[in-house]
Amino acid sequence: MNHNHVNKFKDLANVQTLLNQAIEVRKAAYAPYSDFKVGAALLAASGKIYTGCNVENASYGASICAEKNAALSAVKAGERHFKALAVVANTPLTYPCGICLQFLSEFADSDMLVLLLDEEGQPSTYLFGDLLPKAFKKSQMEPENHKN
Ligand SMILES: [Zn+2]
Repeated sequence: MNHNHVNKFKDLANVQTLLNQAIEVRKAAYAPYSDFKVGAALLAASGKIYTGCNVENASYGASICAEKNAALSAVKAGERHFKALAVVANTPLTYPCGICLQFLSEFADSDMLVLLLDEEGQPSTYLFGDLLPKAFKKSQMEPENHKN
């Protein structure tokens, strides 16, 4: 684990809780097509944790990733800012996909802690900005940034 990242988040005493919740919700994953089960847990600014698993569909494009599922639960509950994300799958290391990174960027700063658990149960830590350094943000759509 990169302790520099984790030490930055000493206020997040529940890092292990976040990992455990990602592991737990992964059991609910619906992945009959890929058998690639993923669990995600998001720590929101309120201190509450929201979880999500991947949900596949016979029309593959209709499938939802675990990270997006967790983010939807958080936003539905009124959360608008995320502090940390944990993701667990059954591969050596699973990074959030590009669509999820973009989706999360709406509610995450570049210093959001991202914990990725490998199949041995060892977490790797990243900052959100490491995974998506150039997110498309609302600020880019503001009128003062438009050119005629
Ligand atoms: Zn995704």
